[in-house]
Amino acid sequence: MSRIQPPGRPFDDPELCASRAELARALRTFLPAEAVLAREEEVRPYECDGLSVYRQTPLLVVLPRDVAEVRQVMRLCHQRRVPVVARGAGTGLSGGALPCGEGIVLSLARLDRILALEPEALLARVQPGVRNLAISEAAAAHGLYYAPDPSSQIACTIGGNVAENSGGVHCLKYGLTVHNVLAIKLVSAAGELIELGGEALDGPGYDLLALYIGSEGMLGITVEVTVRLLPRPPLARALLAAFDDVGRAGAAVGEIIAAGILPAGLEMMDGPAIRAAEDFIGAGYPVEAAAILLCELDGTEAEVAAQVEAVETLLARAGATEVRVSRDETERARFWQGRKSAFPAVGRISPDYYCMDGTIPRRALPEVLRRTAELAAEHDLAVANVFHAGDGNLHPLILFDANRPGELERTEALGARLLELCVEVGGTITGEHGVGVEKLGQMCVQFSARELAQFHAVKSAFDPAGLLNPGKGVPTPRRCSEYRQLPSPAHPHRH
Ligand SMILES: Cc1cc2nc3c(=O)[nH]c(=O)nc-3n(C[C@H](O)[C@H](O)[C@H](O)COP(=O)(O)OP(=O)(O)OC[C@H]3O[C@@H](n4cnc5c(N)ncnc54)[C@H](O)[C@@H]3O)c2cc1C
Repeated sequence: MSRIQPPGRPFDDPELCASRAELARALRTFLPAEAVLAREEEVRPYECDGLSVYRQTPLLVVLPRDVAEVRQVMRLCHQRRVPVVARGAGTGLSGGALPCGEGIVLSLARLDRILALEPEALLARVQPGVRNLAISEAAAAHGLYYAPDPSSQIACTIGGNVAENSGGVHCLKYGLTVHNVLAIKLVSAAGELIELGGEALDGPGYDLLALYIGSEGMLGITVEVTVRLLPRPPLARALLAAFDDVGRAGAAVGEIIAAGILPAGLEMMDGPAIRAAEDFIGAGYPVEAAAILLCELDGTEAEVAAQVEAVETLLARAGATEVRVSRDETERARFWQGRKSAFPAVGRISPDYYCMDGTIPRRALPEVLRRTAELAAEHDLAVANVFHAGDGNLHPLILFDANRPGELERTEALGARLLELCVEVGGTITGEHGVGVEKLGQMCVQFSARELAQFHAVKSAFDPAGLLNPGKGVPTPRRCSEYRQLPSPAHPHRH
């Protein structure tokens, strides 16, 4: 399946070939030849991210090794008005790293060093191409870790995490990327080095660090990140609760939080996701259940014991048919292994799947799960749900077969409808995967024209020529007026 956005010219288009050759020559005046990929077979692997339905071959791929080289590349592209799309590991799920056909992909993969680890200051300074998990692995020797833990953490980079404001299982208690980053060095569209944030808890002026985090590579190129490290909790235990009704499991989530308990993670999987994960990993999940909740509690032994008892009682009262408590670290890891492998597991039961990402207030969980099933049936498609229930961050996985005529279109229509449902109940169209190219239409539902104008004003303050990741994140007014005229779903406007 492939959908080119926007319709691109062929790789061997004579005009493109000429500008490719000329730009490659200019880049190679200060970069080694092998750091500039120009042949079709070399650039093809960069044509999409994890949302492979959108593909576009870039003009060139450039792999700098240090900040000085990144700055030189940016200066050259700025002088020549060449668009630049930054790329980490390419695991993004909203098409954020989708290349621009007439621009370069700037891969930060070679900037992959942990520059400093300061256990006494509880921080690490890392380059953008460092993998998320590598930070916790390096910090483990000091009893520390980096809390935001996307399920893709084995592969995704901290530069990508910053761009998407990534979350994960433990973000309910410990916060998203934005809550765990202290400072950033970035290279601007014009090639200047800019520092945001610092080690102090507050700073004067606008909070540009918070503004930058989640800006999807549209405001600058991240070249260094200072992250907060946390002491590993002395003990963690996980509970696995089975339910014979999805709505009851959804309601139990709200009850746990309402009781004043803040789990380290509170995740939910429905029947299709449970069975797919069990077939794949054999985590010992109850395959007859309509839904399971995984609830992790951490702290001192006494704190964890008291919380486990309270949550067990709450779950039983909420209608759980079975509650298991992990007896040791091996069992806790096994409970989580099924959840962490759920996306690839679902990939085994369907030729294609489309992972949506929206956030709702927790109290709306039962209603939204019921409406999701109804909408899936209306679109004649199956959905597996596996998500960060405690945060209200939904990930409906729409199962489809792109080779069947019309299924991709129905899938996209269902996906759009599900995101708009999130807005209807007071939520948002993304929880952690970003807008990219995927959710430009739904941005027009979430925000008014006046609000979108402010987004554009911020973009042009950082990048007046519009060279950084063009066409992503924020829709143009024209695109919104076209989207609003589409016949399909009702477009409820909040404003
Ligand atoms: C199986 C699977 C599970 C996932 N689970 C989660 C999850 O639990 N939570 C979650 O939040 N996400 C999850 N994701 C999505 C994805 O892993 C995250 O969005 C991740 O942060 C992307 O990092 P990356 O290095 O792959 O970035 P890329 O995909 O390469 O890029 C993502 C965006 O960041 C920009 N970018 C990358 N590096 C830089 C830089 N140095 N400077 C400026 N901009 C940059 C790109 O232009 C693009 O817009 C999952 C993905 C997969 C495939």
